[in-house]
Amino acid sequence: MGAPPRDSGVDCPPCVFHDARVSYLVLARKYRPQKFEDLLGQEHVARTLTNAITMGRVHHAFLFTGARGIGKTSAARILAKALCCAQGPTATPCGTCAVCQSISNGQSVDVQEIDGASNTGVDDVRALREGVRYLPAEARKKVYIIDEVHMLSTSAFNALLKTLEEPPAHVVFISATTEVHKIPATIMSRCQRYDFKLLSSQVLVGHLTRILDNEGIAYDPDAIRLVAREAAGSVRDALSLLDQIVAYVGHEKITRDKVTEVLGIADRRLLYQLADQVLARDVAATLRTVADAVDRGVDLIQMSRAFLGFLHDIEIVAAVPDAGDLIDATPEEAGETAALAAKAGKALTLVLFDRWARAVEDAGRSQTPRLVLEMALVDLCQAEPLLPLGDLLERLEKLEGRLAAAGALPPRTPAPVPVPASPPRRPARQSAEGQAAPAVTSASPDSWPPDSDIAEVWRRVRESFGHRPVVAAALDHAEVVSWESGTVTLQFVQRFALDQTAKFKSEIERCLTKLTGTTTRVDLKMASSQGPALLRSEVGREADAAQIDQNQRETEARQHPMIRKAQELFGVSPKEIKIR
Ligand SMILES: [Zn+2]
Repeated sequence: MGAPPRDSGVDCPPCVFHDARVSYLVLARKYRPQKFEDLLGQEHVARTLTNAITMGRVHHAFLFTGARGIGKTSAARILAKALCCAQGPTATPCGTCAVCQSISNGQSVDVQEIDGASNTGVDDVRALREGVRYLPAEARKKVYIIDEVHMLSTSAFNALLKTLEEPPAHVVFISATTEVHKIPATIMSRCQRYDFKLLSSQVLVGHLTRILDNEGIAYDPDAIRLVAREAAGSVRDALSLLDQIVAYVGHEKITRDKVTEVLGIADRRLLYQLADQVLARDVAATLRTVADAVDRGVDLIQMSRAFLGFLHDIEIVAAVPDAGDLIDATPEEAGETAALAAKAGKALTLVLFDRWARAVEDAGRSQTPRLVLEMALVDLCQAEPLLPLGDLLERLEKLEGRLAAAGALPPRTPAPVPVPASPPRRPARQSAEGQAAPAVTSASPDSWPPDSDIAEVWRRVRESFGHRPVVAAALDHAEVVSWESGTVTLQFVQRFALDQTAKFKSEIERCLTKLTGTTTRVDLKMASSQGPALLRSEVGREADAAQIDQNQRETEARQHPMIRKAQELFGVSPKEIKIR
C-alpha cells in the first residue's frame, strides 16, 4: 500500500489561468492552506492542535470528521508537517526544510496518504501494520493519513484496531471521514475527534474576493456571493466553481449574469420574480418564468430547490422581525424578502412552503419534473391562507371539558356521518362543474366524430405517440376545442406546449387521418378564454381529479362531529381544511 499520486506541482505560473486546460482545481491547489492559521473557518480545530503541539501533548490517533472540501486533508498534511518539520515539532512548520517540502510534494516516505475507498481490504491494513513496525526513514514520525476511513471493511477495521491499541511511539494516525456514523465505536474511542464545520457564506465570500484581488480579476461582489451560496459551505467546491467561471469569462469581469449562465443556476432575482408572480396569482406569468429559465439552461430541479429555500426565507422573515442575520441575503435582498413576506402574510407563507416542499419531492422522483413543478405553481397561485384550526380545536376541547364537568353534555360518541355526494367546491375549470370525471363535456350539434368517439380517437392519437415522450408530454397539454369538417382545433394554456406540438403537427395530422379515415387538419391556438372544451387536456384532467379528491376529503372533514360542534359553539366555519 503506497501513497496515491497527488498534485505534483507547487510552482504555479504567474497567472494560474495561463493555460485553460489546467484551470480545474488550480485555485484549490495554489491556495491550499500551509499553516494552521490558514485553515478557513476551522479556528477551533487549529487552536486545539496548536496548543497540543506547543505543550508536547500530541495524541497518536486523530479522527477528522465533516463534509467534503472543508479542509480535513489539508489539516492532516499541516499536522504531519508540524510533527515532522526539521525545526519542530512546531505549530508553525517552516515549509522550506527538506521534510516539509517532501510532504508538500506528496513524496515523503514517512508520511503516507491512504485512500480508504481503494484500500479497503484486510490485506491492505495488514501491510500497513507491517510498515508501522519500522522507524521513520528521515522524519521524526511516521504519519498515516487515511482518507475516507469509513470505507474500510470490518476486518480491515479490526486489523487497524490492533495497531491503534498498541501504537509504536513513532507513529501517528490521522483518519478523515465524511460519514462519521459508519466508524466503529471501538475505533472512535481510540481517536481524538475533531469536527470540521461547513464554512459560512461570509467566510467563503471573503476568501474568494481575496483570491480574485490577488489574481487581479475583476468581479461584482453580488456575483461572488452567488458562487459562495452555490458552494454550500465547501471551500473546495467554491474554488472549483470559481475556476469554471474564470475559464468561462476569460479576461472579462465576473458578473452575476455570467455566474448564473455558466453554473446554470437560478439567481435570487428569478426566485423573487417567481414569488411575486405567485402572490399576484398570475399563473401565466409563473409558467412563462419557468419556460424562460429552461430556455436559458437553468436546471429545473436546482431551481425548484432554490425556490423552496427562498420560500423558507420568506417564512422566516414573516415569523421573525429583523431576521436579516437568519437568512443568507444582503441587506437589500433581505428588504425585498421582507416586502414579499408582508404581502403574503404569515399564514399564507406556511401554505406555500408546505405545498412547494411536496412538489420538489415529487419532481425529484418524476420522469417529467417540469410538468409536476408547473402544476404545483398553478396550485400555489390558488393557495389560501390557513385558519389556525389547531387553536380552534384546542379551545373546543377545553370548553367541552368544562361543560362535561358541569354535567351539561353527554359523553361524546363520534359516529361516522354519511357523506353526501357533492359537487366540487371549487372546480379548476367551469367545464368540470357538476361532473365527477369530466372527460367529454359539451357537444356542438354538427361536431364529428360523436363526442364519445372524440375521447377514444384522441386517446389513440396520444397512445400512438407513447414511445416518444416529448410529443406525448406536449399532447398532454392539449385541449380539443372543436372537431368539425376535417379540422381539429387544439388549444393550449402554455406556449411551450403549443410550440412543441407545432413541430409534430404534420405527423399528428397523418395519424388522425389514418384513425378517422378522413383527411384531417390540425389547428393550434393559445387558450384565449376559459370557455368549455370538447375534451380537457390530460394535464387539466389530472388537476381536476386532484381537486375533486381534495374536495371530497374536505367535505368529509367538514362533516366530522368535532368540527360540526366547533361550528355550533363558535358560529364560525373553517375557511380551509388542510389534509395531510
Ligand atoms: Zn520544515
